[in-house]
Amino acid sequence: MYLLKIINSGSRYNLHSHTQFCDGHAEMEEFVVEAVGRGFTDYGFSPHSPIPFASSCNMALDDVPRYLAEVDRLRGKYGDRIRLYASMEIDYISSEWNASTDYFATLPLDYRISSVHFVPSDDGYVDIDGRFENFRKKMAVYFHNDIRHVVRLFYQQSMAMVEAGGFDIIGHFDKIGHNASLFSEGIEDEPFYRSLVDDLVSLIIERGLIVEINTKALSRSGRLFPARRYWERLARAGVAVAVNSDAHEPSLIDSGRDVTLAEYKVLLQNIEYNTLTDNTK
Ligand SMILES: [Zn+2]
Ligand SMILES: [Zn+2]
Repeated sequence: MYLLKIINSGSRYNLHSHTQFCDGHAEMEEFVVEAVGRGFTDYGFSPHSPIPFASSCNMALDDVPRYLAEVDRLRGKYGDRIRLYASMEIDYISSEWNASTDYFATLPLDYRISSVHFVPSDDGYVDIDGRFENFRKKMAVYFHNDIRHVVRLFYQQSMAMVEAGGFDIIGHFDKIGHNASLFSEGIEDEPFYRSLVDDLVSLIIERGLIVEINTKALSRSGRLFPARRYWERLARAGVAVAVNSDAHEPSLIDSGRDVTLAEYKVLLQNIEYNTLTDNTK
């Protein structure tokens, strides 16, 4: 599959990137110009998908044809210098609205990323991503400040997303860890949290998904998604890993990628070395 080829070939790529049709801060052409300038060979757009309720971050359903046409136009103009892909970061909302449902399954996309940003509450779906100040307010308004409940909801949505399928790459699969640990320090070390992630990773491995390591927050908060503590299990299971910047502006298309790729490579080499020495004992 060509995605694996891109990831494994050492070519310069980014497969997760936003646009003017969602919450990106620049026109798609500006991202392409930046990518060409930096010697990228492969660049994929993945605007936040349409969802069945109002959201300022997500693409409107009516804009989807315009988005796809813009990828085509840019391919025509820059296709001799870079391979461009039309993707989407498809939100898992429910069994009726996700990457596997008819609408997304039949869209002419090159590949699909799927991520969880919303969890259900008694008063509708709540975006649990984004700034901690907002997250803290929502915890009081929608969830009686029950952080463990919200963490469980996030991983329930994630499990349901992987079960439903219809996508190639799972986006930032432990994203809730950031806001949850700011809300309740050390929560990611708690057995209930570890077991939720373990179950999700088992399912990811079973389904043969590509896992993204998302570098968007690395320069700001030092965090990668998924966190480093989960990498070894992924690597030992032979999971294909894509390192994506999740750029919302052109200057950040490469942000955090080189150091993260290098770090992951060292981990792979260490595992290989240990396996070899174990086998010779
Ligand atoms: Zn996302
Ligand atoms: Zn994104």
